[in-house]
Amino acid sequence: MTNDIYGPFPGRADFLAGLTEQQRDRYEQLGTNLEVVERRIVAACEAAGRPREDVTLIVVTKTYPAEDTALLAGLGVTDVAENRDQDAAPKAELCVQLPLTWHFVGQLQTNKVRSVVRYADAVHSVDRPRLVESLSAAVLRSERAPLDCLVQVALDKESGEGEHRAGVAPADVPALADKIADTPGLRMAGVMTVAPLAGPLADRPDLAFARLAEIASAVRASHPAATMVSAGMSGDLEQAVAAGATHVRVGTAVLGVRSPLG
Ligand SMILES: *Cc1c(COP(=O)(O)O)cnc(C)c1O
Repeated sequence: MTNDIYGPFPGRADFLAGLTEQQRDRYEQLGTNLEVVERRIVAACEAAGRPREDVTLIVVTKTYPAEDTALLAGLGVTDVAENRDQDAAPKAELCVQLPLTWHFVGQLQTNKVRSVVRYADAVHSVDRPRLVESLSAAVLRSERAPLDCLVQVALDKESGEGEHRAGVAPADVPALADKIADTPGLRMAGVMTVAPLAGPLADRPDLAFARLAEIASAVRASHPAATMVSAGMSGDLEQAVAAGATHVRVGTAVLGVRSPLG
């Protein structure tokens, strides 16, 4: 008999017994990948002299089916991330009974905001005042709890590169952080970055994340509760943990290589 993988967790043994053979293979594969990532995080925390509990693993499930999200929840994953509302909204609806925290990490258009605030617990990609206003309006219209907002920092904009990349230049972070903090329905929660592809910090995630740590610390001086530092992906999570990241966003290393369109 197959169980409803989107329903309340029946305990590990019953969950496993209720999976199809195909689902069980995928469950085992995801479990093995998670163990490898977990070992990497543990080692990085040890090397940095940080407790493991300082770092939250967010599994980036973009382009993969809702079934994978449910299997990950069955494996004990607590935090997942998506980057496109069109894919995320139906997945989140299917997975609504699962004990998951949902992070939105993609470029966000204001016409998607109403949908995103229905399922997202945190938006890591806040990059302009108009988006702050739009998120606030949507949160206030809904019954939901305040939304955690992170300012997305484009480190390469500091050197005049990355003109077209998502995120604000480091110099513009304080004003956007203040605006989030002053806007009803939103909680100024921290900063996020993706290691730059251009400029002096390209291929130097250690330097990039150290710069982000400085920016995060300046933000905390004005907003003490803004403790989230979202940095590090499959290829550079060690450097991010070394620099003080509190949230690493890992896709490929858990789910496998995405199709190029993802
Ligand atoms: C896809 C994505 C990730 C995960 O990247 P991987 O290299 O697959 O681990 C992390 N952060 C953001 C913003 C992403 O879009």
